[in-house]
Amino acid sequence: MKRIGILGGMSPESTVIYYRLLNEGARKALGPLSTADCLIASMNFGEIQAMQKAGEWDRAGDHLARAAKGLEAAGADLIILATNTMHQCAPAIETALQVPFLHIADATAARLTAEGRNKPLLLGTAYTMEQDFYKGRLSRAHGIHAMIPAPAERALIHSIIFDELVNGVVREESRSAYLAIVARHAAERADSVILGCTEIGMLLDDGNSPLPVYDTAAIHCAVALETALA
Ligand code: GLU
Repeated sequence: MKRIGILGGMSPESTVIYYRLLNEGARKALGPLSTADCLIASMNFGEIQAMQKAGEWDRAGDHLARAAKGLEAAGADLIILATNTMHQCAPAIETALQVPFLHIADATAARLTAEGRNKPLLLGTAYTMEQDFYKGRLSRAHGIHAMIPAPAERALIHSIIFDELVNGVVREESRSAYLAIVARHAAERADSVILGCTEIGMLLDDGNSPLPVYDTAAIHCAVALETALA
């Protein structure tokens, strides 16, 4: 099994999900007591979030590229970045690495395409829903045209991520608010919903969502494992 390098801590809640899913997947694939060979570089999310707020994406990119190189030097055979938002810095990370970098939007797009869907609703932080690095990649590289929520919905989704989910807080009112937004877009003919923030799986899943759920954290982990086991 190849060694998976994880750029994590963004947030720790997300990294915990990745660590659990990678190990559950390894056990399923390789048998009882098998676990994922992985390294985690855990960032200080407070520092990263301050850079997001200030729009200092180049600075954040340098920071993440340095950490990615550290994982590579420590023996990682492939690297994943366990957050959608920070894929804004994917070019800086990819440039710094010799080993493969598995992009979360590519992994998600491949799954949507394989299942015949191309009109997803995209939920995530305001950065992910509003900036081009994610939606643009989905449409230019994969022909997937994501719908995004209305401005007031985006503000609510973003604040629930930063005020609650990244701190490990799960509130039923917030789950209902997310579900109402998904239901509204189901009526507007979205064919699926991308959980384009790695913590949103704490609120939504196939069991409660009116649209089929594409959980980026779960899909990213599955692709990383497949690659590590290939
Ligand atoms: N984990 C989140 C994401 O997937 C949000 C935290 C962050 O800003 O990195 O976008």
